[in-house]
Amino acid sequence: MAKPCGVCAGVRRAVETIERALVVYGPPVYARHEIIHDRHAVDELQARGAVFVDDLSAVPDGAVVVFGAHGVAEEAEHDCERRGHDVIDATCPLVLKLHKEARRLADRGYDVVVVGRAGDDEVDAIASRIPGRVHVVSHLADVERLEVADPARVAYLLQTTLGGLDTVDIVAALKHRFPRLATQDGDACSAVHDRERAALKLARRVDAVFVVGSGSAVTTRRLLEIVAASGVPTRLVENAGAIEHGNIDGLTAVGLAAGPSTPDKLVDAVVARLKMLRPVEIDVLDGVEEFVRFRLPSRLRHAGERSSPGLGGAPLAPGAALSHDR
Ligand code: SF4
Repeated sequence: MAKPCGVCAGVRRAVETIERALVVYGPPVYARHEIIHDRHAVDELQARGAVFVDDLSAVPDGAVVVFGAHGVAEEAEHDCERRGHDVIDATCPLVLKLHKEARRLADRGYDVVVVGRAGDDEVDAIASRIPGRVHVVSHLADVERLEVADPARVAYLLQTTLGGLDTVDIVAALKHRFPRLATQDGDACSAVHDRERAALKLARRVDAVFVVGSGSAVTTRRLLEIVAASGVPTRLVENAGAIEHGNIDGLTAVGLAAGPSTPDKLVDAVVARLKMLRPVEIDVLDGVEEFVRFRLPSRLRHAGERSSPGLGGAPLAPGAALSHDR
């Protein structure tokens, strides 16, 4: 197994936030888009009363709404306030840090370049919070087309769900064009990059790599591409049941890798399936140890302690404790 492998701290917290909100406030609890790219995890949350919508305008006024790990644009946040939604903000603390950095750089007069996929929630959420000049760069060619107020005051920020391999050329081109290029204070989130590096290290040691996760998750698809490009036979495993004897016959060592939106349960199920098919020994490669675990939004921590049936009390009425909370 690669290390790290599977769900990152921010996505884990967003899922746990919905789970806790369902216990504390009761269903329905709304969220924009599916909060984790895994069919089983989404089905499970839906069965318990979570409702995933493509557009927040589909949410009835005053409903409980959870913002996912990669946040929402500022306009959507204001719209929720106007419509009296009871917002629980599970935006990952590392994404919130990017929002803060974006504002800080813009306040200091920088043109801010967001390197990321235009149209992604995370990119929209960052760009919407930049009061000054903001540019989204998705491809190398975009760098040449940039028009900035002052080439000596340009800064860039990286979308957290891009891996390092996707950004290295773009950042190099930005540095070449703007030698005084600035960026955020402190380290950016490396969860995606760490999983990609771990999968590549694994690929050198095994006969084949199974990338565990959903094909609908962009980080899983990218992991698959990167590992396949290294030359090792690579296969996407979306559910454990899909692995048959024929997939592992003749292999001595199979590698398991997973992106940041693959739940632990799915990785565990794949390991269990392999053990069922034949005797296996699990070897976790050396890699980045992730100790970080983000606490739930504070109102859920406290409400859960006071009111969750599973935690010793009656559930709060839907809509109770209306304060907007991170
Ligand atoms: Fe947070 Fe990083 Fe996961 Fe994005 S990839 S949700 S920033 S931990």
